[in-house]
Amino acid sequence: MKKTVLLTGILAGLVLLVGCKKDLDLGLEEGPAETPIGQVKKRSCSMHAHTNRLLEDPNYREAHRRKFEKVRSMVSERNPCSAPVTIPVAVHFQGVNNPDAACLRQLAMDQIRILNEDFRGTNSDITKWTNEAASFFPGISQGETCMNFCLATKNHPSGYGLTEGSVAVTINTTNGDFDEKWADYLNIFVQPDIGALGYAPLGGEGKGDGVVIDALAFGTGNGCTGVSPEAPFNLGRTLTHEVGHYFLLDHIWGDGCSTDDEVADTPDAEADYAGCPALGASSCGSNDMHMNYMDYTDDACMYVFSAGQSSRMENYLSSSLQHLVDKASSVCGTDNGGGDRPTCLDGIQNGDETGVDCGGSNCSPCNTTTCSPPSNINVVASSSSAVITFTVVEGANGYQCKYRPQGSDDFLELTAQLSFFTLNDLQAGTVYEYEIQSVCADGTSDYTSLATFSTGSDGDHGSCECTGLQLDIALTLDAWGSEVSYELLDEEGTALKTGGPFEDEQNGVVIEDMACLEDGCYTLALFDSFGDGICCEYGEGKLELLEHTGELLASSDGSYGFVDYIDFCVEGGQFQLIEARRPTNHNRVAVKKK
Ligand SMILES: [Zn+2]
Repeated sequence: MKKTVLLTGILAGLVLLVGCKKDLDLGLEEGPAETPIGQVKKRSCSMHAHTNRLLEDPNYREAHRRKFEKVRSMVSERNPCSAPVTIPVAVHFQGVNNPDAACLRQLAMDQIRILNEDFRGTNSDITKWTNEAASFFPGISQGETCMNFCLATKNHPSGYGLTEGSVAVTINTTNGDFDEKWADYLNIFVQPDIGALGYAPLGGEGKGDGVVIDALAFGTGNGCTGVSPEAPFNLGRTLTHEVGHYFLLDHIWGDGCSTDDEVADTPDAEADYAGCPALGASSCGSNDMHMNYMDYTDDACMYVFSAGQSSRMENYLSSSLQHLVDKASSVCGTDNGGGDRPTCLDGIQNGDETGVDCGGSNCSPCNTTTCSPPSNINVVASSSSAVITFTVVEGANGYQCKYRPQGSDDFLELTAQLSFFTLNDLQAGTVYEYEIQSVCADGTSDYTSLATFSTGSDGDHGSCECTGLQLDIALTLDAWGSEVSYELLDEEGTALKTGGPFEDEQNGVVIEDMACLEDGCYTLALFDSFGDGICCEYGEGKLELLEHTGELLASSDGSYGFVDYIDFCVEGGQFQLIEARRPTNHNRVAVKKK
């Protein structure tokens, strides 16, 4: 690419005088997207500035050099694509005020469909190339990569409030342009005001990095609250461009006529183009391929990769990013393993009809998970009551319990939304039998096999079948319960307990949950989807972790942003606080509607 040229006023004036047919990229290429009054908006991408920052690390620099060498040594051979390799994708929205989650998920799915079309050469405007532009570039063929991008739907990293079957779209739960919990994914971070339309490393690593897209250049259509694409960058092509960088494509103009982009079939160009240039524009003695995704033209005027670029991306994928492809089998559903296959729109989490996005003709319904019965059941019983706790079941929106004194004919029944039951008015000194089942959107699970517990004699304050730590969770709501949820995660990230979202206007109501924890380490994550915590503007919410005896072990005062974490371990049945973490970047003060 052309090195950043600091143009003086004189030089700038000269360029204007000669009335160049090309945009000579007067702005600092790596700088913020400037839109001088009276001029068209110009694409900007700070890939090189970002990559140069990464290269300051000697280890990164050496690894980067080797990756380049490897790709240079590989043969660029085009074979017909019979079975595209799948790359798992996660989309992370950041700093969205009052987010509309369903809208953002749909926006992300539409954007991934565009990415797939562009990379597979099935974009509708490819006809501009085949019908007309190609004749200006004899010997250059369009490139169709043998890649498929899948918005992951399974086995999500924990701590982001994502359920099995929902798309990997996080909202306000990541920071910056790196998150190691999302290693092996191609991450797309959507941020407000990044000072360019986007950036990416030149050759991504797949260790939690990804591409960054400005909230005004992500997706297409009307967008959503806080994330709405603006013309002329509202057709989703900023992502196509940045993902090109992630797979080791430089800008097509390289570094001017004498230094190219290391892709053999792209013509040399003196500089970048902006707007919508006419066919036949030339420099360096050849026609310039300004309709290439790796130029700076408007979304509507870029529509093709060259075959050489596609080969380079495929070579980079196979030589340096195979671990992403390996990951796909465990996080991408079989239904979105190829081309235009649909992805599920969070149908399970919401309990509504299964959303299906059909980008093409191969439309089939999404997979649904089966509803499993509860497991890891623990019972705490006193002389007159008992509490049955169990691990939260993926996809369940409630539970049912049947219980009776052993030998009795009739069951008593209870329902619960959270993963525990409280049985009251029990007879002292009695053996009870019980069974429980999960209630999911599409039906109920089997009951667990009949099990028993015994109540104590009168005056007995409870026998605990929990051999570890009996932990009570007490969540005090503010007025905006619909924004609040929590997860208790084990070391593997499995959610042992989840709660919420709750009803609004329950200020001061205390939600009680409990867990029996064996020795190990755990994280309690407390979320607020609006980003203003649960204290203190709309009530005095808080969360407390208590020993079953009532002793306070740890707490959140509720004045967090989107999420508060309490990391702790249980050793020999004893609670040990490790760290209370509060991500600071996205705390915000905002005024609510009502
Ligand atoms: Zn770029």
